Amino acid sequence: MAKSRFEYVRDFEESDAVMKQCFIVLRIDGSNFHRFSDKHGFVKPNDERALLANRAAHGVMQIMPDCTIAYGQSDEYSFVLRPDTTVHGRRRQKLVSLAVSKFTAVYQFYWAHFFPETALLYPPAFDGRLVLYPSDKILRDYLAWRQVDCHINNLYNTTFHSLIQKQGLTASESEKRLSKTLSKEKNEILFQLGINYNDEKDIFKKGSVLIGAENRKENEGEIDLWEAQSSEESKHLQKRQVLVLHVDIIKDPFWQRYPNLLLPLEEVKKARKRQLQTDCNKKNNEYLFILVFYHALVFVILDFNIIRKSKTQKRANALYYCSSSRQAHLNMKILDSDHRSIQLYFHISIRPRALRQLGAACHLPYHQF
Ligand code: ATP
Ligand code: ATP
Ligand code: MG
Ligand code: MG
Repeated sequence: MAKSRFEYVRDFEESDAVMKQCFIVLRIDGSNFHRFSDKHGFVKPNDERALLANRAAHGVMQIMPDCTIAYGQSDEYSFVLRPDTTVHGRRRQKLVSLAVSKFTAVYQFYWAHFFPETALLYPPAFDGRLVLYPSDKILRDYLAWRQVDCHINNLYNTTFHSLIQKQGLTASESEKRLSKTLSKEKNEILFQLGINYNDEKDIFKKGSVLIGAENRKENEGEIDLWEAQSSEESKHLQKRQVLVLHVDIIKDPFWQRYPNLLLPLEEVKKARKRQLQTDCNKKNNEYLFILVFYHALVFVILDFNIIRKSKTQKRANALYYCSSSRQAHLNMKILDSDHRSIQLYFHISIRPRALRQLGAACHLPYHQF
């Protein structure tokens, strides 16, 4: 920022970094969405095109790498950031405004894709807030609170709209009929109308859970490959792929399946290192590159497991090239155990004889150099 005599006004800005070591939750909620959903002809009680909100939430996860889990239902979405995140200096207003503006922008950007037959009549707005949660337990209770809210509202809305659609009741008659009823009675009303609430779709009964695809276990559901409207967007989508689940996050099994979600960053790094070490130990010393330089003999030991994995996935790209000036470029792309691509680039002076030795060590014919 350019220096000027007016710069002193900056001191009027207050620091709003939030307390350390607490989970940061950013919650976004559609403003007056009851009206918005009516005006845009959302199917009641649940319109599947509202999956657009999941796409918008992915947009927020793209710009918040420390957001490990997001939970959405109805017109709201909660984003959980790791307790030791330092993103944007943990500044409250920066985080809330970024999350809300990105969510709103993506929602509008992809409107036509999800609602091809409905013109956007006016721009939607969302509000946002930031709440701190000091422990795993309270954070889990927060998410449980939102999922229970989803269940209660969805059971009510499903019954309310079924009475209107199937029994011809007016809205106020339906409201009266449901007044002071318990879950069991709502289930019975639905049953009489030929609906088994258990058969309703999980996306509406449980809401949507977004987690980074790096947490994906083998044989798990497909990663949601959203279509991008530009190559720039597509690059972003590749960078942070997410898994969209419609599962229970109140009970323990979910958290046992994804144990890394609530760990501090430091712990995640340690856990990844331990995993890599275990993988390497299994196959250690199975692949050996010997590079002979003018003055030194260098052994480079690469984990065979990594090389083999990358080869079978046909993603490995090894390019050896030696120019007349006796410069060698070794450019390799390998995948680490989390399937992230690592680029290795060596630029070395090398004797042709040494290069032949390198080729022999790599079991590559000389002409590939
Ligand atoms: P931060 O996320 O911290 O706000 P920033 O990159 O947005 O980072 P700013 O201090 O907000 O940083 O600076 C805005 C920058 O945007 C300017 O330095 C300038 O490069 C660019 N910019 C803003 N308006 C224009 C414009 N009309 N034409 C060209 N460039 C612009
Ligand atoms: P506020 O501005 O206070 O948040 P609101 O009208 O947005 O008011 P909410 O309690 O947030 O009130 O309720 C959101 C409303 O959005 C629901 O009552 C429902 O009518 C509508 N809605 C949200 N998602 C869907 C959907 N997928 N299908 C149909 N309607 C939906
Ligand atoms: Mg709302
Ligand atoms: Mg709401």
